[in-house]
Amino acid sequence: MLGEPPQTEYDLNWTLFDIPIRIHPLFWLIIFLLGCSGLNGTGSENFASMLAWVLACLISIIVHELGHALTGKKYGSSGVYIVLHGMGGLAINARGRSRFQRIMVIAAGPGAGLLLYALFLGIDHIGSVSNAPIFANFFVIAFIRDMLWINLVWSILNLIPVFPLDGGQIMGQIICIPKKGKMFGNDSRGMLRTFKVSMIIAIAVACFALTKDDIFIAVMFGYFAYMNYQYMNQYRW
Ligand SMILES: [Zn+2]
Repeated sequence: MLGEPPQTEYDLNWTLFDIPIRIHPLFWLIIFLLGCSGLNGTGSENFASMLAWVLACLISIIVHELGHALTGKKYGSSGVYIVLHGMGGLAINARGRSRFQRIMVIAAGPGAGLLLYALFLGIDHIGSVSNAPIFANFFVIAFIRDMLWINLVWSILNLIPVFPLDGGQIMGQIICIPKKGKMFGNDSRGMLRTFKVSMIIAIAVACFALTKDDIFIAVMFGYFAYMNYQYMNQYRW
């Protein structure tokens, strides 16, 4: 989750706003599998739904990572690039020098997602009052619905204070004593506290998801709880 996946010959590479973007093949597989649960129409409707879903995931995750990457660049980070992998995205080398700058870089990802959500709320409102034929198109309706859902859920999910989510990283920045140039400083007590709080919150979220029959979120946060337990053991020494 924290590490960058190795390069493969099926990677897709391009550059946006001077930021190189690499898409690992697992990214497509995971969003395709997630999109399958929403298919219940005819063949051509399912095709349009899947296309809308994949496009909405791609745009939303790139906008989220561009939020981190461009803010990091603004604060002087060099060699910033984006990798989309199986569990979302990473903005590599996007950092800030001071604690405030680092918090801004981390918060800019969910912040960009919430701005995109607000933009699509506006588009959805125009669609509901306009007679333009484009807003009656099956693909456009599915795309607007997916953009609203992904950007709201992905942004809020990322703000939950569980490491390594953005919310958990902000918590780490607040708890740890900052050291210049280092992402979290050398404050191992602060990091240990961050992992401990993350583990407790992750278990609580996983249990809550189970009561709502949301297996995907339950498994995801169960895994985060396990990850933080492992980090705790590494930092005990
Ligand atoms: Zn993020």
